Order: sequence, then C-alpha cells, then structure tokens
Amino acid sequence: MRNFAAATSSSPEPDQLVRVQGDDQTYEFNGELIATATTHRPDKPRWLDMELWRVTDGTGRYVIGRIGKSLVYHKHDGPCGRGVPTPAMELNFNAIPCADCGAPSLNIARSIPGRLVMREAEHPSASVCQDAHEVLQALRLPDIGYSAPAQRLLDTARLRDEKINAAMSVIKRL
Ligand SMILES: [Zn+2]
Repeated sequence: MRNFAAATSSSPEPDQLVRVQGDDQTYEFNGELIATATTHRPDKPRWLDMELWRVTDGTGRYVIGRIGKSLVYHKHDGPCGRGVPTPAMELNFNAIPCADCGAPSLNIARSIPGRLVMREAEHPSASVCQDAHEVLQALRLPDIGYSAPAQRLLDTARLRDEKINAAMSVIKRL
C-alpha cells in the first residue's frame, strides 16, 4: 500500500508528510506533489505511473516516484515464470489472463477454491535528486532522451516549479 495515494487525490497542501516507495526502501519526507504522468490506456494491461515531489525542508531536493503496474496474471506452473503466487479469489475483477501461458479465465480461476495464479506485482522505484538538474538527469535515458511520460511529467512540473523550469531552459553557448 502506498500511503501517499490519499494525498495524491486530495487537494495539494504544502508540507504534508509523504511516503514514496522505492525498490528496496520507503522514503518519508515533507513534500508537495508538483506533477504526475501515466502511460495508462484503457486497452493496455501494463503501464507506468510517475510522480515528481518537491521536498519542502529547504534543501531544494526532489523525489521521483515510479511505479510499474499490471493487470496481468499467469498460470501458476506455466512457462512465463513471472509474477507472485496469489489465490485467484484475490484477483480484481479487471485482472487479465496472460494469453501466452494458457492462464485460466478469471471466472474459471475464481471458481476453484484455493486455485493459485501468478499475479504480476507492482514495481516501484524512486530517485532522490539533490536539485532540479538531477531531476532532469534522472529522467533522461542515455541516447534516447526523455520518455513520453517523463516529458509530460516535466512539462507539468515546469509550470509549477521555478527551478525545474530554469533547469529546462538552460541555453548552451557553442
Ligand atoms: Zn503467462
């Protein structure tokens, strides 16, 4: 469970205590949400949610939260080798069976007591950035540049954060 989910949906209040889940630890800080972006589409079973938080302790730091999400589940002893064992009864009604491993349909899986499937887990990660330049660095992929959601995240953030905007407006004299 991500405790800040509630904070995200309520109106932004400066200086709220925030928790962002990293891959191996949870970061807790006073912060303000300045941008979100998602690759979610109704027809896609997997997507990425991104958030950019400003840390409001005067250090000028930022935290980027990313979480890979999936509705897909696999056959328990199937060839895909992905996911975590989960009782089918605990699947959400929007869960989607993997087409590659013959995962049982949701109705069938849920009708067998004790039936296990392999549900793809959420993959959270987080980056703590010392300043706005590090935010840009952390979001930029080598040789590729910004991914579409990263670009949307920054386009929103620069409207709400002077330092992000300044970092994105640097002119390099050749
Ligand atoms: Zn599969």
